[in-house]
Order: sequence, then C-alpha cells, then structure tokens
Amino acid sequence: MCKDQLYHALKVNESVCYGCTHCMNVCPTQAIRIKAGIADINDQRCVDCGECLRACPVKAIYVEQDDFSKIFDFDVRVAVLPSVFVGQFSKQIAESEIVDVLKELGFTHVVPAEAVVDVINDAMLEHHSSTAEKPLISSFCPSIVRLVQIKFPGLVNNIMPLKSPAEAAVVYVRNLLKEQGVESAKVGVFYVTPCASKIAALKSQPSEDPSFVNGVINMNFLYNKVYHVLKNRSSDQSLENHPRPYLFSKGLEWSLTSLFGY
Ligand code: SF4
Ligand code: SF4
Repeated sequence: MCKDQLYHALKVNESVCYGCTHCMNVCPTQAIRIKAGIADINDQRCVDCGECLRACPVKAIYVEQDDFSKIFDFDVRVAVLPSVFVGQFSKQIAESEIVDVLKELGFTHVVPAEAVVDVINDAMLEHHSSTAEKPLISSFCPSIVRLVQIKFPGLVNNIMPLKSPAEAAVVYVRNLLKEQGVESAKVGVFYVTPCASKIAALKSQPSEDPSFVNGVINMNFLYNKVYHVLKNRSSDQSLENHPRPYLFSKGLEWSLTSLFGY
C-alpha cells in the first residue's frame, strides 16, 4: 500500500449517523465534513486518533477489525499480545492459564508485544546521543506521527526513525521462526490491540515489510472469548494471587522518560 493510500481503521456507519457534527467539532485535523447529512472522513487528513469515535452519541463510528477465523488461513498462528491484555484479568488467574486458552482458541504461539523493549531502549539512547535533531519525537504512537506529517511537517526530521515495540516484536518473531526453519508463507502474525491508531498503522504496512501483520484483532473481542472459556471452567481455583512474569517491569516501564535518561 503506498503512502497516499493509507488504511484507516475508523469507519462511519451511514445507516446510524444523523449528521449531528459532534465528531466534526472534536477532530484535531478537520478531517470530517458532513455531506448529505452524513459524516465523511477525509483519508488524507485523518490521523486515526479516535476522538470522533468517543464523541459520537450514537456509536455511528466504529473500528474495523479482522475476522478471527482469518487466523486459520495459516499453519503457524502467532498472537502478539500487549501486557495490558493480561492485566485485564483477575490476579487469581495465572498468566499461563490465559496463554493456554489462547492456544485452545487456535494460536500456536503467543508473544509479548513488549518482548524487545531492551533493544528499543538501547536504540533510542544511541539515536539520542548521535543525532543533532532535538527535541526528539517518539515514533511509537502512529497518530502522533501522522499528526506531525499533516500539521507540522517542519518537525518530521525530529521523529525518531525507530519501529514501535509492537512492530519490532513482529520482526523478532518472524526472524525467530525463520531460523527454526518455518516457511514464512505458513506464518500468520496477528496483533491484538484496542487502539485504532495502531490498527491503521499496522494494516498500512506493505506485505514485504518485515513488521507486516497478517491481521489485527480487537482486544475487547479476544478478552471476551478468553474470559468466557475461563468462566465456564469448573472453578476450584485458589484465591491466592499469581505472579505475573508476563507483566515484567521493563515491559510496563520502558516508556517512562526516566528510563530514557532525561
Ligand atoms: S480519527 Fe481523529 S483525525 Fe480521524 S476523523 Fe476521527 S477525530 Fe479526525
Ligand atoms: S457524531 Fe456520530 S452521528 Fe454525529 S455526525 Fe458524527 S458520526 Fe454522525
């Protein structure tokens, strides 16, 4: 997909929209106009920030997502899972149980989206010390990157030229499986997220990009699936809290400015 054909995850349900203009009023890039009584999003101006979705009183704006059954198009099915997914469950549920259920649902591998934060931290520090462009703008929020490109093009060179943790995790898992001799065409990588901005960015990647994902799964949807499986199990669980190695401290704290040396 070329740059002027950016994918957008937010769509307008025309049968629900009644042209109230709430979304238009909150859009930071003036991407929305009301045409014939229906909200119309300009693809070239939208940065997928999700403000319009939050403002709509009748839920006429929704986040497009891939069908879960798409994972079964592949022999090797990888879920790239952010720590926040595990954090949604009660502490009485062990992480291993959550991962087991994800595998029962069809994934063959579950990889933390923050698996490579050490590498990214080192790369950020190295870039910080080697570039004259200051201040630096993180490249990790796709909406911020698009906002800079659209509204503040003079700052484009201040954006750090680094992949986000999720993108880097996808590169990592693809390389790992390749080293293990798994044929790339058999691997489907699926990113789990609640974020429209990340969905749009990941789905805009060309298929030859090593951080290309084959699909994006809405976190709410997957959480409900896992939750129902766990809930329907006979519950002789102890009430003790389980440790959460998946939520390792670096995975949660990596984005704090103090870790970046400021
Ligand atoms: S997602 Fe953000 S930028 Fe895009 S139309 Fe909605 S409010 Fe505007
Ligand atoms: S806020 Fe919702 S109903 Fe109102 S114009 Fe926007 S999409 Fe339509």
